[in-house]
Amino acid sequence: MVKNHKELKYIIAKPIRFWKPYRFQVKGFSKTTMKLNIKDTFNKVLTADQNKENTRRQVEKAHFSYVTPRIPDAPKLLHVAEEMLENIGLTSKDATTEAFLNMVSGSSVLPNTAPFAMCYGGHQFGHWAGQLGDGRAINLFEVVENDQRWALQLKGSGSTPYSRTADGRAVLRSSIREHLCSEAMFALNVPTTRSLSLAITGDHVLRDMLYDGNAEYEKGAVVCRVAPSFIRFGNFQILTARNDKENLQKLTDYTISHFFPTIETGTKAGYIEFFKSVAERTLDMIIGWQRVGFVHGVMNTDNMSILGLTIDFGPYGWLEGYDKSWTPNTTDKQNRRYRYGQQIGIGLWNLFQLANTLYPLIEETAPLEAILDNYKTDYAKKYPAMMRQKLGLMTQLESDNQLIETLENNLEMVETDMTIFFRNLSQIKKNTIIEENDDSFLAVIETAFYNKNELNKGQIRFWRDWFGQYLARLEKEIATDEARKTLMDSVNPKYVLRNYMAQLAIDKADNGDYDLISELHELLKKPYDEQPEFEKWFAKRPEWARHKVGCSMLSCSS
Ligand code: AMP
Ligand code: MG
Repeated sequence: MVKNHKELKYIIAKPIRFWKPYRFQVKGFSKTTMKLNIKDTFNKVLTADQNKENTRRQVEKAHFSYVTPRIPDAPKLLHVAEEMLENIGLTSKDATTEAFLNMVSGSSVLPNTAPFAMCYGGHQFGHWAGQLGDGRAINLFEVVENDQRWALQLKGSGSTPYSRTADGRAVLRSSIREHLCSEAMFALNVPTTRSLSLAITGDHVLRDMLYDGNAEYEKGAVVCRVAPSFIRFGNFQILTARNDKENLQKLTDYTISHFFPTIETGTKAGYIEFFKSVAERTLDMIIGWQRVGFVHGVMNTDNMSILGLTIDFGPYGWLEGYDKSWTPNTTDKQNRRYRYGQQIGIGLWNLFQLANTLYPLIEETAPLEAILDNYKTDYAKKYPAMMRQKLGLMTQLESDNQLIETLENNLEMVETDMTIFFRNLSQIKKNTIIEENDDSFLAVIETAFYNKNELNKGQIRFWRDWFGQYLARLEKEIATDEARKTLMDSVNPKYVLRNYMAQLAIDKADNGDYDLISELHELLKKPYDEQPEFEKWFAKRPEWARHKVGCSMLSCSS
């Protein structure tokens, strides 16, 4: 391990070759050898910033800048995601070593690796913001394990040329949220970046959490994120914005050849196919969000992964009461641009920006427009298909769209917990009879209402009608109650990272108790399983959390 100091510049400048899995050994820990099959590509194939100084600036004609993570004062590992550890070829024993802590906290850099920050731009809240870049993320290296490429990236490990006016650091609360939620998303079968570890740095970071002039010191933290690649729409955008076609093509060819292997590089047809594939992945990811009630909160184009992965877990939230207009992000309170009901539309808006970005490689608008149109027609098929699964319908009828629309309206009548509603709906029996003047049909979903007494007679009638239609629809299915329940329970999670749950883990961690982080991580590994030992988490948000900062209100401060 190389201590992280200025001389590293010279080390990273040397050419690097990896013919075999690279092994490194740490003095004083010689019994522990972590084996990592390091195979860097991004920083080998693409264009490096010639300026090696870590000064804040505009970085032109480059895809990335070499940087060295900041050495934390007294790093301590709080949690490691075992599954991710295995994915990159390490064992739980490796995770107990100092070498591992050094690697994931930024204390030292592995020899023969060359950490870097990526250059990207982006549209923020609908406006072009120019150069953004990895202001507090540092890519360490890539490993290949079981034919799968993984890039490791530290978030919160100090400033880079892209830090602009900020400090390059991250606080514990946002790092807990990112670590837990990325693994939870994966377990929900929604494409996402992953998280290997969460560490505190031992030093403190000044934050004005609510942007109201009350800045306070908070614990600093670093998350080691993992994904096949962290390339975003914005990596392409910044190049086109600067008329740097050469690097645009280089990045596009790199992305295609490493992550879209069935598409050819260097041809117009290939670039069109690439855009089509990104559009499809983006739509599938967002439909996944809609299915589980996830609101990203900041769908700026710099937060859109080119691989269609959920990326940058900031002021995200989970729908508790079903509400299409809901966003957890207080910074977006006014316009609610990134509200639950608009995420699909924003995906399209962002893809439109990407189409403009790729235009110089294609020089024809028609195929790009056709792909954007296709997004809409695909949505019109895929969204109802997803909703039919949530309702346990295995066949398709024309009337299903109406059934879905009416349900969505009903869910918004009074505060109705989305997760509990769909999970409990699977218990309904096909032969249920709804009698006039008998509200017992509501029993199956009763616990989903935050206050059942809020439902007035008219609203109960709407539910009565809907359940009548739903039961009639179930009659047309040959599946048994049991088979339907199995399907529904495989797409309607029982457990999600409710906003207050993450906040409880944060409050405890602030007091030095990290057990809830592990408990929630365990729980969320199997969100579709009953897990009776964790039943207490299958509950509506408690009243204390309704207006609590961090639970229902989150800012971009992190
Ligand atoms: P976000 O809204 O978190 O996606 O961040 C937008 C841009 O601001 C990205 O370029 C981030 O790298 C950068 N950024 C956010 N927080 C910080 C920070 N504390 N220090 C440096 N850059 C930051
Ligand atoms: Mg971001």
